[in-house]
Amino acid sequence: MEKIALFPGSFDPITKGHYEIVLKGLELFDKIIIGVGVNSSKKTLYSVEQRIAMIQQVFSQYPQISVVPYEGLTVAFCKSVNAGFILRGLRSGLDFEYEQSIAFANKELDPDIETIFLLSSPSYSNISSTIVRDIIANKGDYTKFIPKGLTL
Ligand code: ADP
Repeated sequence: MEKIALFPGSFDPITKGHYEIVLKGLELFDKIIIGVGVNSSKKTLYSVEQRIAMIQQVFSQYPQISVVPYEGLTVAFCKSVNAGFILRGLRSGLDFEYEQSIAFANKELDPDIETIFLLSSPSYSNISSTIVRDIIANKGDYTKFIPKGLTL
């Protein structure tokens, strides 16, 4: 059976940290679906359409990767796209605390879906979309923090 993972997130915008997790994930899964969260109560810098276009640009060479918007329960979305796994990245113990409670809740909601965590490299573990947005707002050089070749 094909191993399909959903990598859910806001990706506002996608960073080198996200990029690395997806590439590592490709060694484990046949397909990765990047689920771009549509959350009407969360104010984002980039629209869902912009975030999807950026991620598609970054992974255009990878037919195993698809990018889709999603809203609602993550486990319900997994079922609808046949994903048996949720992929998440961990930068620190702080991420772990937060991610563990989400993973436990998802396990209660659907025991068939397994959350898989991959650790980010030390050099990427301080990168977040929040920091990138801050650098953009202050007109700094954000290109170091986003995947090579991506234009925002
Ligand atoms: P969310 O709003 O769901 O936290 P994000 O877009 O911030 O969405 O993150 C999506 C996933 O990517 C999460 O699992 C998060 O821990 C992970 N992630 C974010 N930044 C990094 C990074 N620098 N290195 C590794 N994983 C990361």
